[in-house]
Amino acid sequence: MYFGTNGVRGKFDQLTPELTLKLAQAIGIYLKNSKSSSDKVGEKPKIIVARDCRMTGELLQSIVMGALASVGCDVLDIGIASSPTAEFMIKTGAAGCIIVSASHNPPEWNALKVVDGFGVAISHERGGKIEKLMEKISLAKWDDIGKITKYDRATLEHIEAIGNAVNREAIAAKRPKIVLDCGNGTACVIAPKLFKELGCEILTLNSHPDGKFPGRASEPSEGNVKDLVALVQSSGANAGVAWDGDGDRVIFVDEKGGYVIGDKVFALSIIWKFNSVLARGDVVTTVATSKAVEDVAKSYGGKIRYTAIGAPYLCEEMIKKPAAIGGEEVGGVIFPEFSLAKDGFLTAAKMVEAICQKPLSNWLELVPKYYNIKTKIDAKNEKTKKQMIARVLKYAKSKKLDYIDIDGVRINMKESWVIVRPSGTEPYVRIFAEAKGEEEAKRLVKEYEGVAKQK
Ligand code: MG
Repeated sequence: MYFGTNGVRGKFDQLTPELTLKLAQAIGIYLKNSKSSSDKVGEKPKIIVARDCRMTGELLQSIVMGALASVGCDVLDIGIASSPTAEFMIKTGAAGCIIVSASHNPPEWNALKVVDGFGVAISHERGGKIEKLMEKISLAKWDDIGKITKYDRATLEHIEAIGNAVNREAIAAKRPKIVLDCGNGTACVIAPKLFKELGCEILTLNSHPDGKFPGRASEPSEGNVKDLVALVQSSGANAGVAWDGDGDRVIFVDEKGGYVIGDKVFALSIIWKFNSVLARGDVVTTVATSKAVEDVAKSYGGKIRYTAIGAPYLCEEMIKKPAAIGGEEVGGVIFPEFSLAKDGFLTAAKMVEAICQKPLSNWLELVPKYYNIKTKIDAKNEKTKKQMIARVLKYAKSKKLDYIDIDGVRINMKESWVIVRPSGTEPYVRIFAEAKGEEEAKRLVKEYEGVAKQK
């Protein structure tokens, strides 16, 4: 099985040129045969192809585009673009998109992320269907292959749409000072221009694209964005923003230099949206998300709907039944009226709009405080992972605890919760606990580490 939680991921000797060719041909056939919101009789399906700025990106993107054309798909090559930009472009009439990007992974990794014509990312399960198609690739006839067209306006169109989704006048009037940490990723090609056009005064960090990520690792974790925190403090900026390598995830730094973790970004996004009565509704999130999100949603009368972990499951749930907003604990927020992508740029623009009313640290006072502790246990293979999860499930059942086992095991307590789940991409079982006090969160992690390892 090549498809993981969200696409096919690997180092260059795993996601090889040969495998990329076969996969992309099969993806082309799959998207061609799938219903799409943009089907037109007599026209070839159009697939958008984008990449981030990794060293292997140009090579793999070229193979993907050739592969798609070889099975009779037209290709719109939008070049280096963020994932939310590529996904936003689907509504211009595409049958889907392939993004060559390993998101927040180290530079030697790359991946193919696939999104269908309705904007729904392809899950592990749907990926299985694509892999079946790899067994029998039928090429298009020589005179019926697809065309590859370059299109260099995708990012500009995305910027314009984000501008229309926020109160530009209010931002331009306040002219907030924002520090942007683009992490040498695709944020470089969109963020400085976007926030300048919104009327912000901007300072940038790591703002030239570089596939080796020389400035910082591409995951915007607290430890990786110390320069951003320091620059926000020394420059007296109103806020700082950092994205992961492909720009779907975002974290903030408040005007005091406080790091705003992903699930708080999500909780704030709910508050900013639900402050308008007309925009309220269900909140969709994964079983790994902070209880603060549930608390915030409920305070506005919103219902929370949990899914398995992974963007595809959020998209599927939001298509199945309407929701006002969706998001992941790692700082990816979906505004369904805009697209089904986690859009780190729209999310950051909404933050900038909000801080024109009051400082970010004041907004944060509305988010209930929980302490969280994460750890990971080495699990050398899938069997070990399964055994660990099974021990936790058995423990939860025997103690008659309140649990959800959609994805790993989440155990809910009155003012705390813990989840133990296998990593989809790495040889670990992860434990995450949250409680009103730090000691209790630590105790929970220790307790469940013991249960998983059977100590
Ligand atoms: Mg990402």
